[in-house]
Amino acid sequence: MEKFNLKRKNPVIIAGPCSAETEEQTVETCMQLAQTGMVDVFRAGVWKPRTRPGMFEGVGLKGLGWVAKAKELTGLPTAIEVATAKHVEAALEFGVDILWIGARTTVNPFSVQEISDAVRGSNVTILVKNPVGPDIELWAGAVQRLQKVGIDRIGLIHRGFSAIGGEYRNSPMWHLAIEMRRRMPEIPMIGDPSHIVGRRDGLLEMSQKIADLDYDGLIVESHIRPDEAWSDAAQQLTPAALAEMLKRVTWRTEVVNLPEFERALAALRGQIDQIDNELFELLAKRMRVAEKIGEVKRDNNVTILQRSRWGDIVERIKAQAVRLDLSPEFLTTILEAIHIESIDKQNKVMNLSKD
Ligand code: PEP
Ligand code: MN
Repeated sequence: MEKFNLKRKNPVIIAGPCSAETEEQTVETCMQLAQTGMVDVFRAGVWKPRTRPGMFEGVGLKGLGWVAKAKELTGLPTAIEVATAKHVEAALEFGVDILWIGARTTVNPFSVQEISDAVRGSNVTILVKNPVGPDIELWAGAVQRLQKVGIDRIGLIHRGFSAIGGEYRNSPMWHLAIEMRRRMPEIPMIGDPSHIVGRRDGLLEMSQKIADLDYDGLIVESHIRPDEAWSDAAQQLTPAALAEMLKRVTWRTEVVNLPEFERALAALRGQIDQIDNELFELLAKRMRVAEKIGEVKRDNNVTILQRSRWGDIVERIKAQAVRLDLSPEFLTTILEAIHIESIDKQNKVMNLSKD
């Protein structure tokens, strides 16, 4: 798709139901989305890899006919999920423009290789969703398998990662998507707010965050009767609600060449660099104290971890969260990282003499 080569200003918007359920629902959703004038690609799942059996697993082949009809009536390019070589062959036969590899398939190198072999020689566009677990190497590996068979129209979809607890259905773990962009700067990154948030409310906020992280587009689930959807009902929007939301997302530019802006930014970045230096100097100082504690514990034959002391530290720092205007989660994450490094340092001090 040409649009994938246009960076910024033209974010690509992919929208459609989680699943194609009936011909009427598929075609009507696509027509309403096309009428908004804000959607570039129509998506629909016809094969749905579900985590547990007994959930709706898609209508299969017949859904491809409905998707082809929707394309014929609206002119919108189409996108579906594929997980096997058979899916790929059928999708290409039905003229599907974009294939995506789902999060439960990206985790499996055999499946990704099978899909790669099936698309060898075609000029189809393939989007690779991040794997369910936070393993960036699997995500990168899937892209490399496609590149190896000569596919050059590749995009990434960031749909978040499974995590226990947390405020979203899937944790964004932004650092992993940012690292993928650093490694593969030429590959467009599409954000999937629907599968990250898992609920209708919060989609606008998440989409804005995605836009502000300079992604190249969005893939959002939309259904003419969201509450009756056979899969992912809680997170789907009507086409009209989707259009309203998209109007409210601001796509800002990554760079502007205004001297005033450059000056203001340079001054603030100077401050950030200075503060970072001070932060790390302080952390190094803290580690040296931790090492001294290690010596005292070693000489008295006391374990490194004293659970009550660690509990006290966590509580003391968390209690400061409001005053510092920092979230307790952020403070805990930082504190845990510091604690692990301290334990490593103390471990070295206490066990060095054993070598
Ligand atoms: C989907 O896009 O409907 C889907 C199943 O997504 P994921 O692979 O991200 O779970
Ligand atoms: Mn879905």
